[in-house]
Amino acid sequence: MSYEVSYQELNQIFDSLRLHYKIYAPKRLHNVGRYCNTDMIRYEEIRSAEEIELKERSVYSPKEVFYPVNQTLFHYTEYGYLESQIFDKDLLIFARSCDIHGIKRLDKVFLENGTTQDPYYKRMRDKVHFVLLECGEGWESCACCSMHTNKTDDYDLAMRFLPEENKVLVECKTDLFKESFLQKPAVDFKPEFVEKNKSEIRVPEITEDMLPQIYQLDMWKEYNSRCIGCGACNSVCITCSCFNTVDTPYTENGKSGERRRTWTGCMNDDFTTVNGGHAFRDAYADRMRFKTLHKVYDFKKRFNTEDHMCVGCGRCDDVCPNNISFSHIVNRLYDEVEKIKEEKK
Ligand code: SF4
Ligand code: SF4
Repeated sequence: MSYEVSYQELNQIFDSLRLHYKIYAPKRLHNVGRYCNTDMIRYEEIRSAEEIELKERSVYSPKEVFYPVNQTLFHYTEYGYLESQIFDKDLLIFARSCDIHGIKRLDKVFLENGTTQDPYYKRMRDKVHFVLLECGEGWESCACCSMHTNKTDDYDLAMRFLPEENKVLVECKTDLFKESFLQKPAVDFKPEFVEKNKSEIRVPEITEDMLPQIYQLDMWKEYNSRCIGCGACNSVCITCSCFNTVDTPYTENGKSGERRRTWTGCMNDDFTTVNGGHAFRDAYADRMRFKTLHKVYDFKKRFNTEDHMCVGCGRCDDVCPNNISFSHIVNRLYDEVEKIKEEKK
């Protein structure tokens, strides 16, 4: 069922939901952007519908709400340890279709990868409920249609905001939040999804026997000079899941402190450095090759699924300080793979 509410009515509903939920949405943070006097759109807890940024995509993805940049796992002393606690409330997250798909990719990595689920991820993920945000036309770098993430039915609520008319159309996809809207006028509303993007990713069909040739491709070498290994592309990616584990002592003797995990990524320096100082992928070209294959080959193979890891959200293209476009890299790889296929005929 779908309903119509005013902004004021929706804010009253938010007020009562906040007894049991923390509500997160993309929000405009003033003067904290990458350049002077620019804003940043980022996920933050909201108290009213007016705070939701609808016109611009968030720089960081919603994963930071339940898989934060820094997470304390447990506190320790020389006598034992105490696991970190989390809040009781559930999480209601406004998210776009590609991001909901991206979170499903994270679920595979943290919950379906081997025999043990990641308990620190699971305890937060179990709290998450989605409100689907419509995208309208999307943005320049979106490639959700290429990655088949432009549509989803995995949400509890969907909303269309019509600020000029002081109206919000709400679809209650499940019964979870239905009671909050039952007294409101029923309307005929279903969310609309993007059907075509300006950007396109041509995903190569890679087979294992092609990998030695793919490793040797000249195209990777360009990134030795273009990429600076800042890792910004990893940080904003909804599907990047890697972290470092660090002990932070509270005392000089180091016997009490906390163990934290902190995001890191395959493009960062030291990501593959092991004891003795050897790094397995020191060259930026090697890191780029690894990241690209991970996003459009390894994940699909590892989990035996139809889905690639990349969901085509386009954030990595937008954030790269050297204007390196990931969709362009995958398209170049597609052309190279087509050549390899021809040679093999
Ligand atoms: S690789 Fe880039 S386009 Fe793909 S999911 Fe990550 S940030 Fe989005
Ligand atoms: S954001 Fe750009 S420069 Fe930075 S690591 Fe990624 S590809 Fe390289």
